[in-house]
Amino acid sequence: MVSGTYAETYARSIGDPEGFWDDAAALVDWVQPPTRILDRSLDPASSWFADGKLNTCFNALDRHVLAGNGDRIALIWESPVSGRSAQYTYARLTDEVAKFAAVLRRHGVSRGDRVSLYLPMIPEAVIAMLACARLGAVHSVVFGGFAPRELATRIDDALPQVIVTASCGIERQRVIDYLALVDDALALADHQPGACIVKQRPEHRGRPSSGGDVDWDDAVRRETIPEPCVAVDAADPLYILYTSGTTGKPKGIVRDNGGHAVAMAWSMRYVYDIKPGDVWWAASDVGWVVGHSYIVYGPLIGGATTILYEGKPVGTPDAAGFWRVVAQHRPKALFTAPTALRAVKREDPEGLLLGQFDVSSLQTLFLAGERLDPDTYGWAAEHLAVPVVDNWWQTETGWPVAANLRGLDPMPIKVGSPSVPVPGFVIRILDENGSDTGPGVEGAVCLELPLPPGCMTTIWGAHDRFIESYFTQHEGFYHSGDGGYVDDDGYVFVLGRLDDVINVAGHRLSTGALEEVVSDHPEVAECAVIRGRTSWVPVEGLPSGRQMRSGRPRAVGAVIWNGLACFVRQRRCRGFPR
Ligand code: AMP
Repeated sequence: MVSGTYAETYARSIGDPEGFWDDAAALVDWVQPPTRILDRSLDPASSWFADGKLNTCFNALDRHVLAGNGDRIALIWESPVSGRSAQYTYARLTDEVAKFAAVLRRHGVSRGDRVSLYLPMIPEAVIAMLACARLGAVHSVVFGGFAPRELATRIDDALPQVIVTASCGIERQRVIDYLALVDDALALADHQPGACIVKQRPEHRGRPSSGGDVDWDDAVRRETIPEPCVAVDAADPLYILYTSGTTGKPKGIVRDNGGHAVAMAWSMRYVYDIKPGDVWWAASDVGWVVGHSYIVYGPLIGGATTILYEGKPVGTPDAAGFWRVVAQHRPKALFTAPTALRAVKREDPEGLLLGQFDVSSLQTLFLAGERLDPDTYGWAAEHLAVPVVDNWWQTETGWPVAANLRGLDPMPIKVGSPSVPVPGFVIRILDENGSDTGPGVEGAVCLELPLPPGCMTTIWGAHDRFIESYFTQHEGFYHSGDGGYVDDDGYVFVLGRLDDVINVAGHRLSTGALEEVVSDHPEVAECAVIRGRTSWVPVEGLPSGRQMRSGRPRAVGAVIWNGLACFVRQRRCRGFPR
């Protein structure tokens, strides 16, 4: 597997999935190694490593300490918003996680119980996730930017035993009172967790510990006996991560322990080319799937050093935030979203700020989360002078479905394509009748069953909805909901959500394709197509659309054409030229 070319590896993963993933399972330490590799009796949900037992936290932490690597840095925390930073060796992180697991245990958390985490990008977020994994409990991380109502619906769905939060989050210059948000959420929620554990931050101390709150530091100080790892079944849930869903009711994507650990170990090594001891930085948030997979579990299971960044691409304090951290900690690769780079590019179009920093440690820039537009690709490739590698996946899949496998067999990059199917995934482009569209012809991007390890196993508490949402459109396939095509060389092109098509005067127009045309204009920094009014409307504070979700536009104009509005943010944000 290690020395094989992509073609050989891919062919084996599809021809002999059980043998392939049985070998890959050796990247993980098992309490009881699996003998039943793939169980398809539950199709369309495939169960991997059904009779295996393991602990995910043990794989992420303890095993590295036991192997003599306790002094290696596991976690680097950089927080430009608070002006603080910290480093945790594997030994220290294991110790802190084991103590916090003891705190959770004291508050009644045991295997299978849920714990909601509503935390900013601080080490305690990683510690709390791993502490849940240590107990065999199920964490539900709710993105810190979500409002009380979103938090409340997630609490009512997951029914957590405990909620863990912090006294505040920090957004550029603004301190956000998390406890007030949690209070509001709990007032809206029907379910009331048994305890609320609060990490008090010096930037803003929340209300004194009373009324059922537990102070994180006090509670940890009282624990003298570290909590051991609980062996769980491979199929036991590790976490629930909510996606917004189309009907308003969020979908709780469930990830298992065994398949996930194997997929994380395999993908760090072969998709991202990160080996034990490498420094790696996924500049995302722990509230998203990239944060789960590639800030926390992937790099730690892989024995690497991960960077946790409490800052923004721009404004903390400037558009060199990324490059400052790269120069200081010298990661081998950076993984972020095109939106983040567009924000940087907007403020530093010539790369002058970037040029002030030594970013020579970077061997690769990985981008995912949305379509990588050629303009952003070009800027990054020119100014970083490293391969810019797109990878396509979803919260549901948990790890890349299409990528250019840097640790296996790097191949030429085609701009606009995340390259080829990752071993384990069979990508098929289907038309409305379920037939293959053929090379170069657009259709629904579907994945043949069985899905490989690491993909969602159900929707929390709604298995019927899981089947209905993903497996009923085309018999025998997972329906990704994205549209795209595969070219003659087998490169995949993902064009956007199938439901992001707008019907205008009988024409089905892909918003992604229109956005691409507009964003090709050198003066345009970012744009989003929506169905709009038929007059010229400069808009302030347009609510975030898919292409704009990381930032609130300041100056926007709109180009109106035939009932479609294309909202545009100008490169330098000084009003739109009329
Ligand atoms: P999420 O589950 O929120 O991470 O969103 C997943 C969706 O983002 C996918 O279904 C795609 O529509 C889009 N997406 C993610 N990565 C890419 C990519 N590399 N290229 C194109 N679209 C992407």
